[in-house]
Amino acid sequence: MAATIFSKIIDRTIPARIEYEDDLCLAFHDVAPQAPTHLLVIPRRPIPSLADLDQTDAPLVGHLILVATQVAARLGLDSGYRLVVNCGRDGGQSVDHLHVHLLGGRPLGWPPG
Ligand code: AMP
Repeated sequence: MAATIFSKIIDRTIPARIEYEDDLCLAFHDVAPQAPTHLLVIPRRPIPSLADLDQTDAPLVGHLILVATQVAARLGLDSGYRLVVNCGRDGGQSVDHLHVHLLGGRPLGWPPG
């Protein structure tokens, strides 16, 4: 798989506002936020998208979701937030490294605009 901009954030080749990291993942602020709080939670392993997951990845995916909830709590998103994972070009994915969007800090309508 070709290196993406997120690989460069993981290896610190380019800067990011990293809010959390551990052995499996990083959470950092989106450079073009769509809400007052907008972070991305990414695995260190460069999995391209949801479509590339298999059963053995279930613990990792659970970990990404739990980290997102912990970051949301830490950032005070007490009235709610949204997690989004885009998959493929038609699904709105532009960076081919699996990532969970954490959005909050304002009322988020449904369906999303
Ligand atoms: P997606 O469209 O789901 O693939 O989301 C990719 C996200 O990555 C977008 O919200 C971009 O704003 C964000 N993004 C792209 N480059 C960077 C970067 N260098 N640092 C932080 N976020 C980025």
